[in-house]
Amino acid sequence: MIDVDADGVVGFTQALVRIPSTNDPGRRERAAAELVAAKMREWGWEHTVYEVEPDRPNVVAVVEGGGGPGPTLMFEGHTDVVTEGDLSTWTVDPFGGEIRDGRLWGRGSADMKSGLAATLYATRALQLAGPFPGRIKVCALADEEGLMIGAHHFVSEGLTADVDGAIVAEPEAGEICAVAKGALRLRVDFAGKMAHGAMPQHGRNPLPAVGSLLVGLGSLQEELQGRHPAHEHLGEVYVTPTVLRAGSEEQVNVIPAAASVFVDVRTIPGVEHKLIADRVAALASYDGIAAEVSVLVDRPPVDVPVSDPVVAALAAAHRTVTGSEPVYGGVPGSTDGTVLTHWGGIPSVVYGPGGKWIAHQADEFVEVAEIVQCTRVFAEAARRFLSGDF
Ligand SMILES: [Zn+2]
Repeated sequence: MIDVDADGVVGFTQALVRIPSTNDPGRRERAAAELVAAKMREWGWEHTVYEVEPDRPNVVAVVEGGGGPGPTLMFEGHTDVVTEGDLSTWTVDPFGGEIRDGRLWGRGSADMKSGLAATLYATRALQLAGPFPGRIKVCALADEEGLMIGAHHFVSEGLTADVDGAIVAEPEAGEICAVAKGALRLRVDFAGKMAHGAMPQHGRNPLPAVGSLLVGLGSLQEELQGRHPAHEHLGEVYVTPTVLRAGSEEQVNVIPAAASVFVDVRTIPGVEHKLIADRVAALASYDGIAAEVSVLVDRPPVDVPVSDPVVAALAAAHRTVTGSEPVYGGVPGSTDGTVLTHWGGIPSVVYGPGGKWIAHQADEFVEVAEIVQCTRVFAEAARRFLSGDF
């Protein structure tokens, strides 16, 4: 097994957690990205910092194996974390990086500063173990928790062009996740005509159109669930109206001029987002009321076969390091891997230390032993992927 610097990866995770790189204006990713870049510099890695937006850099290192030609493996982590939220719900300092009871506590400990640290230390371990074929691209990207501008920038810069497979270090409780749910967020705007509530015949009330759409969305979900049986790792398709806007409490005697419905659609492989948007537009049509559908977010599902080299190498590495059979799972939301696979055209697989459900919660933690084990799995997965040993 490849020897990894266990104290180093844990200490580096702590240092990352102590930087409050929350995805909020005024905080942002810069300091966390700089810490990553400093480590790359210390190790003599050639790396580039891309200013995606002010204070929101991507850091990308390319580590040549020096062992002849071979494929390119990408390790991906994100430097941003979600907000710590209400401090009174925490029993530890969210940015303390404290280790207690074998656990490393704090915002981003699981999602995903431990995973990011593991990708760096795994690559370093493989490098120190001797020459290897091909190369590893180690990437710390910004804004995974927002609109994924880091991953989109990475793709638009052409940085996926030479990549043969990506391992995304999100916390998945040790499961190998080659599939991820898709997300489609829609906004439907209805235009009516304002009028006095005493004389509604002079207006056009958009609210019945809203009601009709809501009923229709329920039927659409039922139809989609009937046509696309639940995925073994991802479950069902969901069509969920989440936000309604119309009228005002102070103006109960006014027919509102406009109304909006926001819809959060979660899809599984085989479901076409374009078709759903078209169906929602059809459901929104209502006599005398103009409706317009806008697509706010469109992240298709990811469906990488488990036979793909990057998945197979990771599974073999998991078996070697942990001594147990890999468990396959699915990502309930979307990750930077969605962007890399859909827009960058590269197969991606998600695997990393930390529980699936602990992400974004108060008292977030990761098991220290899991960080070290995952670093070993990553190093072994890289070795196997690059040398074709899987
Ligand atoms: Zn994450």
